[in-house]
Amino acid sequence: MNMNNKVALVTGGARGIGRAICRSLANDGFKIAINYNNSEKEATSLKDELSAIAEVEAFKCDVSYSNSVKEMFAEISRTLGNVNVLVNNAGIAEQALFTDITDEMWQRMINTNLSGAFYCSREALKNMINEKNGVIINIASMWGEVGASMEVHYSTAKAGLIGMTKALAKEVGLSGVRVNAVSPGVVLTDMMNSFSEEDKEILKEETPLNTLGTPEDIADAVSFLVSDKARFITGQVLSVNGGFVI
Ligand code: NDP
Repeated sequence: MNMNNKVALVTGGARGIGRAICRSLANDGFKIAINYNNSEKEATSLKDELSAIAEVEAFKCDVSYSNSVKEMFAEISRTLGNVNVLVNNAGIAEQALFTDITDEMWQRMINTNLSGAFYCSREALKNMINEKNGVIINIASMWGEVGASMEVHYSTAKAGLIGMTKALAKEVGLSGVRVNAVSPGVVLTDMMNSFSEEDKEILKEETPLNTLGTPEDIADAVSFLVSDKARFITGQVLSVNGGFVI
């Protein structure tokens, strides 16, 4: 994709992995739409930082609501232009015994991690199909590939995202749109705050490359899949996990 004047939307872009993705796509030459839900301060500071190198705006939206997503896309079109690259990164994690998962916990997980990506992709595709050009990247998880005990709702949502990636890639390939997933292993962000230093050490030791991931490790993979270097790649899951799951 020629990135001149192209717009990249990163959901959950103000913090963690999303923040690193915004930085790398700004460096690649895209206009950046930072989506945030609660992290207004972080979104503003990232906007200020990236303004030096890119056209950038921040948009508040809870992606688990389809109407809010529609409004956000209209606002992005008005300010930056139509979205050409969509990175579905917004997500929540939670640990619970399967039998302790309530209806509310289940719905919140699916609505945020899976339906959010559906709502955003549906909006983005209207323009992408028109232009016969576009890229969608879904941030999955290795637990969506192999399943995690105590995170069945999370694993289910991420496995759904991988299924959506493959099926959608088949449907929109002829329209010039590529759809891929990046599947991170353990990455040091706020999402890992509930893990003790000891737990993180164990996870590190279980990783063949003997290190935990950084947000930049994930952002580099996204940057590659968005770029023209990945022009013949669609419907794939690129696992970025230091070898934790092979
Ligand atoms: P963080 O907890 O650091 O950040 C989560 C991000 O998601 C925040 O920017 C948050 O926005 C956003 N978000 C959550 N709910 C919503 C919502 N309803 N609407 C809009 N935005 C929302 O997590 P990470 O950066 O670590 O995770 C990013 C993605 O990577 C997630 O999809 C996660 O599942 C995935 N991942 C992470 C791994 C890890 O080890 N860290 C491993 C595998 C996958 P705000 O703060 O503005 O509310």
